[in-house]
Parts: sequence; C-alpha cells; structure tokens
Amino acid sequence: MGTTKSRISRRRLLKQGAAAAAAGAALAAPGTAALAQAPAVITGRTFRAWISRGAGRGRTTLQEVRLRPITGRQVVVRTEACNLCYSNVGAVLGLQPAPPASGGTSAASVGLAGVNANDMALMQGHGGVGVVEAIGPEVRRVQVGDRVCVSGTPQCGSCYHCLRGRADICQLLGRNLPGDLVPVADLRDGTPVYSNSHIGGLAELMVTFEEWVVPVITKATPTDLGMVLSCVSVAGLGATTTGTLAVVPPGGTVAVVGCGPLGLSAVQGARIAGASTIIAIDPIRTRRELALKVGATHILDPNVEGAKLIERVRGLSGGPTTRAWSGGRDSGGRRSGAGADVVVEAAGAEFVRPKLEGGPDPTGILPMQQAYEMCSAGGHLVTTGLVRGTIALPAFLFAIGGISHSGGQAGGANPMRDIPRFVEMLHKGQYDTKSLVTRVVSLEDMIGAYEEVAYRTTVTAIMTA
Ligand SMILES: [Zn+2]
Ligand SMILES: [Zn+2]
Repeated sequence: MGTTKSRISRRRLLKQGAAAAAAGAALAAPGTAALAQAPAVITGRTFRAWISRGAGRGRTTLQEVRLRPITGRQVVVRTEACNLCYSNVGAVLGLQPAPPASGGTSAASVGLAGVNANDMALMQGHGGVGVVEAIGPEVRRVQVGDRVCVSGTPQCGSCYHCLRGRADICQLLGRNLPGDLVPVADLRDGTPVYSNSHIGGLAELMVTFEEWVVPVITKATPTDLGMVLSCVSVAGLGATTTGTLAVVPPGGTVAVVGCGPLGLSAVQGARIAGASTIIAIDPIRTRRELALKVGATHILDPNVEGAKLIERVRGLSGGPTTRAWSGGRDSGGRRSGAGADVVVEAAGAEFVRPKLEGGPDPTGILPMQQAYEMCSAGGHLVTTGLVRGTIALPAFLFAIGGISHSGGQAGGANPMRDIPRFVEMLHKGQYDTKSLVTRVVSLEDMIGAYEEVAYRTTVTAIMTA
C-alpha cells in the first residue's frame, strides 16, 4: 500500500457525503442507469494504480490518481492481492489486440456509445481481494472494514439469470463496455480514470459496485486468499465442484485440457469432488508435474500424443472392465475407450508464443475440439478458454452423441453462494494455493511479472498491494 494508508471512517464519509450531494457520477448508459443514485461520498484520497492508455507496448504505467467522490452502491476496496490474469495479457502489455472476450477486458473494445477503450485511462485488472475502505450510502452487502472478494463476475440478485440460479451469467456482466464505465478517479492532469469492467485490481484501491463484491470471513493471508478467489481459480473450482454446469460423479473420470491456474484449479476441484481418475493435459512439463502434485492421476503431453491424444484419454476412462453386461464402460463399439464423465477445457489461445513448451495449436481451437471428443456418451464438456476462430466438430457426434456442453463463464460459479465455499476449501486444506502461486510481486514490479505470465514462465503471479 505504500505510504498513503489513511483510513476513512464511515461516519465521516457519510457526513461529508451529505454536503456533496449531486457531485457523484451519473451513470447514463442503459443497463447501468441505476448503479449510482444517491448523494456522493467525498474521499479525495490519492492512490497508485496501473493505468492503460493508447496502444502498443508500454501502454500501462504506474500513476498516482485521486479518488472521485463515491455514491450510490459504489464500494472502495483497499487491495490486498490481485491475480495477473492471462486473459488480460494483450490489454496490459499491449502485445496485440486481445481476443473478443468479455467487454472491457479487451484492449481495443468499443462500447455501445462508440467510446474506444484505448482512448480511456483504464485501471487494469478484473478482480482481487481486499478490505472495504468506503461505501456509498445505498450499500447493504458489505460494511467498512469487511474483507471482500471483488469478483470478476457480478451478482445483482435480481436479473433474469440471477433469479434462476445462474449468477455466473448475471446480466451486469455484459455492462462493462467502455461506454458503460463511470469515472472513479482522476489523473494529475484531470483526465478521468475508469475501472476496467467496473472492477480493476492492479491498483492500491479497487472502485467497484456492490454487485461485484462478496464478503469473506477469513484470516487467510492475502496471497492465499488472492489465489483461491482469483477469477481463474473460481472458474476451475466452479466447473468441478458447484454442479451448476456439470456434476463430477464420485469415483468418476475427469479430463482437464490445459494446466494453467484455471486447469490446475479444475484438477483440484475434481479431486475435492471425489473423482477417481483425473487426467491432466498440458504441453509444459512443469505444469504437468504440478498437476500430479495437486491431484491428477495421469498426465499427458499433447505434443507427444499428437493425433492419439483423444484415444489415450478415452482409453484411460474405461474403469475396471469394458464388459457390457457387467456394468463395464466402453463406447458401444463406435469409438475407442469410454471417454471422461466430465472434461474441462482450459487451454485458450496464446497471445505470444510461450518461452516454455508451446502447444500444438496457438489458437486454442484444436484443444477445444479434442476436449469435446474426449467426453463419454452422456458426458459433459465445460469450456473456459478464450479462443479466436470457429470450432468444427464431427456432426454426427455433435448431433446425437449424447455429449452436453456448457460455455463455462466463471465455470458456473455463483459468487455469493460459492466464493465462501472456496474459502472453506482453503481453510480445510482441500485447495492447495501454495503449489499454484509461483510468483508474488509488489505493485511496483507488476509489469515484469505480467511478462512472465505472458510467456508462461510462471504459472500464477499474484500482486500484493
Ligand atoms: Zn481473469
Ligand atoms: Zn444478475
């Protein structure tokens, strides 16, 4: 946190807020119109933040900014830890345009109002953990002093999807394009500063809305908490332990394609859920070894297996017997082996060629297609990788092969329901953070660590502020 540690009392904030009515940001964009309504709360606090602007390498710099008055359901969180997510490599390092992922995570995304993200001063990151420093007068979910996860996925609780138990696809998730964002701070020259996707994270403060915060009651260290509640861990555990998208049967078979922090969290989730056979697939040797350490029973290198990869996974999924009249598993003769009950695809596209072993397809399309064909009849594929291009699948298999597929935004995790459960998994020693955190950096050293993430020379980098 550097030297600016001034805490702000809630009473003082509310008092000052009354005098500052109407000074708050007005959210004009459709869909976010009700996010900020009440009198503003003055803070005036300065803090350091990694700000992206313009294009190309060097677009993200560490700057001192001044917090704007907060209002309505806004929440100011003092950052404890933030994961350097691979999906933001393009936006943070300016290596190339990011893939068309969710909204504001793209370096070149253009909002409904025609605002280009490259022209905006954007606080990078999309989630983290920390302590609430200030809240707008309408906030109910958290109080000043609470430890919270600022979740990459919001949960408004009242949209169509939240109401039917699918907060993983809360409709506020899509309200993060440049035109939806509100200024939360100012640069020294008065340039307005925005939080990426209403979240941020790569800064001493996160300025977000109530819908994105989840209170967590824990004494876990910032690094451990930042790891287990990172966007990627939440997605990996979500896909395997929540049952929203797929149910991992105890004693069943799970294949995980791609062993970055998301895949390694899925491996752990499969273990926690009681799977007996957990097949981890990654081109990088050190990541396969990590997979074995955190719960995989088998590891495969896609570069070695080549075209036989699908058959290898199907062959490992058969269980003790293939005898049809004895409860054995096979694919009924049409395909080899049985196939996995659940496959989690966590490979995704490469922004830059890794300095360690590269995969067979930098676009991430091939691993996704292979993941589908690894599923058993009646099995389930959850995809989480961000890829560019078009998926081609055998049409017969797709049409009547009995495989179901979920596009796994956040792995189906429902933030308010599942994040506290993931913290319990940390408390009980079920989820291993120590093996996954391969780099811890200070705010100042963030960019160097992001390069390591980009070139895959580290598995997970956690920034502590
Ligand atoms: Zn992420
Ligand atoms: Zn919602």
